[in-house]
Amino acid sequence: MNRSAILRKLKEQSDYKWDIIVVGGGATGLGIALDGASRGYKTLLLEQSDFAKGTSSRSTKLVHGGVRYMAQGDLLLVMEALHERGLMLKNAPHLTSNQEFVIPVYTFRDVIMYICGLKFYDLLAGRLSMGKSYFIGREKTLARLPMLKPAGLKGGVVYHDGQFDDSRMALALAQACVENDGTVINYCRVDDLLKDENGKIIGVKATEIISGEQFIMKAGLVINATGVFADEIVRMDNPQSKPTIKPSQGVHIVLPKSFLHSNSAIMIPKTDDGRVLFAIPWYDEVVVGTTDTPVNEINLEPVALDDEIAFILKTAGKYLVKPPVREDILCVFAGLRPLAADPENPSSTKEVSRRHKITLSPSGLLSVIGGKWTTYRLMAEETINKAIRAGFLEKRKCVTANLKLTKTGADDLTNHFHIYGDGSSEIKKMISENPGSGIPVDHRLPYTRAELIWICRNEMPVTVEDLLARRTRALFLNARASSEMAAEAAAIMAGESGSDMNWQSEQIESYHRLVKNYI
Ligand SMILES: Cc1cc2nc3c(=O)[nH]c(=O)nc-3n(C[C@H](O)[C@H](O)[C@H](O)COP(=O)(O)OP(=O)(O)OC[C@H]3O[C@@H](n4cnc5c(N)ncnc54)[C@H](O)[C@@H]3O)c2cc1C
Repeated sequence: MNRSAILRKLKEQSDYKWDIIVVGGGATGLGIALDGASRGYKTLLLEQSDFAKGTSSRSTKLVHGGVRYMAQGDLLLVMEALHERGLMLKNAPHLTSNQEFVIPVYTFRDVIMYICGLKFYDLLAGRLSMGKSYFIGREKTLARLPMLKPAGLKGGVVYHDGQFDDSRMALALAQACVENDGTVINYCRVDDLLKDENGKIIGVKATEIISGEQFIMKAGLVINATGVFADEIVRMDNPQSKPTIKPSQGVHIVLPKSFLHSNSAIMIPKTDDGRVLFAIPWYDEVVVGTTDTPVNEINLEPVALDDEIAFILKTAGKYLVKPPVREDILCVFAGLRPLAADPENPSSTKEVSRRHKITLSPSGLLSVIGGKWTTYRLMAEETINKAIRAGFLEKRKCVTANLKLTKTGADDLTNHFHIYGDGSSEIKKMISENPGSGIPVDHRLPYTRAELIWICRNEMPVTVEDLLARRTRALFLNARASSEMAAEAAAIMAGESGSDMNWQSEQIESYHRLVKNYI
């Protein structure tokens, strides 16, 4: 992944006709680009900001069937997601893990209900099950979850789901796409669609954000994978189209792991206002969330509302021996999920089934909306299959079910370098040649100078934020500590790219401004 080389290629080949242009570099777009490239189609992906800058770096970080969707009776979605969960754990072992969850239970009715429900969940997972669900008594529950309040506790129901690093997964998909001869570029925004005299889409107009340079890019098929921004692209196709999406915000907080003091996660299936609350160990901290708040603005940098933070703190405090307060929060992050807007009544929102929707407009715009991170691969397969059926692409078989996203990177789990997949051995070599580069840049976070340099050379970060928020997860794990890494991160980036002191100062300032939204 070399951004300058990719840009050069795009400039030199201005008349090139791509088979597929994918708009949007989140889970959906990257999954589609990898599917297209690995089937041998000439594939280009354009992302207006950084890969996974949108919802795809702000998830609960679960690879799951969705216990909640089972309770809602959406069995097809759960079965598909459980199957995809198994594939994701098999193909990306360096970024996923088997996570044990415990549901604390306070009545015998709940014991029966959850144990039956989760046994059924196991059954739906079939041979890709991650471990059996079972009941444990009060003492065993408290041994596993020492920070759980004991009052009224009857026991716990244990079950297993997957956990992952969402933005690192997005980068692994981008990398795999490039390895399969696809082209991906960040900071390249699609401004408009190109149409022929019959009104059929034949490409896009795009702007490279850093230089402001404009491009015309031609393609046999344009796919809209822009998540909550999908209506903007749909309106480029048909300015009269009515809004289809009303966003809902989900907030998480990150707390020191001492609040959980366990490798098991807590799942509260029904909070006071009927939501699900998770407290999940993630790296060395714990992620707690989430909320579901309808918002009017669609924004790449959504900000958590005070009420949302207060709700999570209050609810977590009901279950934890040590109730967390605002000062304990290491990071707060918000993400937007698309809810369906009723075209006849735009002010009302109803939840879209979390199953994805793929639509084809008369002019040939293929749009993919909704879904889950867990089902990104299936969504991609169905999207490309639909394009084949509609005559945009010649028939070729999908190969992603068995496409490994790392060859060696999951072998050594004694340190965190496995998150870089096959790059981990290069980072370890850099450290063995220069042991000083293996010291963490900030003592509160594990990230070393060597890996920041390796990232600059291999993963197309453009800003300090790209490096600290999505290549490493410093921002999400400890926003204040990441702020103190910004100067060194900027210096490392400048050393690799030749940027001057002004660039460094601007980057540091802009990063410090951003961090305010996360603390
Ligand atoms: C709070 C929350 C928690 C979640 N937790 C989980 C979970 O634990 N597990 C799970 O499986 N799923 C989870 N999900 C769902 C999952 O995160 C989303 O389904 C997924 O990330 C959506 O990816 P996407 O690519 O469709 O959208 P996005 O990630 O938002 O990507 C869309 C991209 O399009 C780009 N874009 C927009 N306009 C343009 C343009 N004009 N030109 C170029 N690029 C453009 C944007 O910059 C953006 O990067 C969660 C969702 C939320 C909101």
